[in-house]
Amino acid sequence: MPEERVANFSAGPSALPISVLEEANKGLLNFNNTGIGIAEISHRSKEFLAFLANLETLIRDQLHVPDTHSILFTQGGGYGQFSAVVLNMLARHTLLHPEAEERTLDYVVTGSWSKKAAEEARRLAAGQRGAKVNVVVDGRPYSKDAKSFDNIPADPTSYAWSTDPALIYYCDNETVDGVQFSGDAQSPTAFPVQQLIAAAQARGAPPLLPLVADHSSSFMSRPIPHLADHAIIYAGAQKNIGPAGLTILIVRQDCLPDVDAAAALGAQPVPFSLAYKTLADSKSVFNTPPVLPIYIAGLVLERAKTLGGVEYFKEMNGRKSAAVYGAIGEGEEKGVFRRKVQQGSESGMNVVFEVLGEGREAEFLKGAEERGMKGLKGHRSVGGIRASLYNAVTEEEVQKLVDYMKEFIGQGSE
Ligand code: PLP
Repeated sequence: MPEERVANFSAGPSALPISVLEEANKGLLNFNNTGIGIAEISHRSKEFLAFLANLETLIRDQLHVPDTHSILFTQGGGYGQFSAVVLNMLARHTLLHPEAEERTLDYVVTGSWSKKAAEEARRLAAGQRGAKVNVVVDGRPYSKDAKSFDNIPADPTSYAWSTDPALIYYCDNETVDGVQFSGDAQSPTAFPVQQLIAAAQARGAPPLLPLVADHSSSFMSRPIPHLADHAIIYAGAQKNIGPAGLTILIVRQDCLPDVDAAAALGAQPVPFSLAYKTLADSKSVFNTPPVLPIYIAGLVLERAKTLGGVEYFKEMNGRKSAAVYGAIGEGEEKGVFRRKVQQGSESGMNVVFEVLGEGREAEFLKGAEERGMKGLKGHRSVGGIRASLYNAVTEEEVQKLVDYMKEFIGQGSE
């Protein structure tokens, strides 16, 4: 291992804790004293199945996932779930309401990823009787320039919910745009779960919300408000908990529809490997799961448990993002930086800002590289700077970034 590791602020795949990488090195040669490396061992061996069961327990305990919800592991990433949630939830809706003329998919669009998810839903809905996408709210009209994703619309009247949707979709943290729902359930920029529950109760509808959330870039970084009221929460592992290739699902058990029974009633057939019931019935080993990413995620979450779980990371990540936003604020006063996201909607994971002045952004990035900091370039679709502060990014590394930002402000305002 090189003596000096780079501070990696990449948006994903992203940094992993050094202690975990060292442990994983050993597991590559000899997994849990089996004499076989983790990338070589059968996924049906008792040692691997025990490891997988323990990974489930680590997630269940740290996020307080109730028994009403199954935890499933699969492949295919966020994009795979953009499709799978639509197909499974339309199948569920068909079983619940076989005669329904309309099957609406409600999408809350607060950034590039929820926009892409809504586009995929529109593609899939086009092939299904009565299915259509309803964009409940789009953040762009509420932005400073009326065209960017820079906010969580906090005015409840701006959300146009439909009456009995097959799913209600949102993305907790928009990785590209640096916009995040608040983790404080009482905040005006929290996802309005209470409002949805109250509306359902007022209609006399069943209390089980078809609420689907993409937590790809915030999973395990803080507690999930109203977790038990969600139908599906999903996340790719490659931001906070492991290498790319593993997708984690938390699914309420009424959302494991028998997709063949639904198809017999007219729903679109669902590929067997995308059906949540297949995964649940097989305890996530219907086919070969991503063994190595599962192993590393297990090591990461074992470490997280000893540190204090999501409560620990909420505090630590809060300090990290506050330090970077503080430096952006100082730079803004001196005309060197400009914040992109409106107050109250800033992501705690992906902090985005602009460097003002011709050629200054390139200078900032070059200086960061020279000082051993990488991955700070903003997403190609929006530009600017993006510092991703996932769980494995240390407070020392963040301090190094903040010191550099202050040095850069000093140069810029001389
Ligand atoms: N959703 C969010 C919030 C993401 O950040 C990403 C990728 O960065 C995706 C979905 C797409 O995930 P994947 O690349 O695993 O398909």
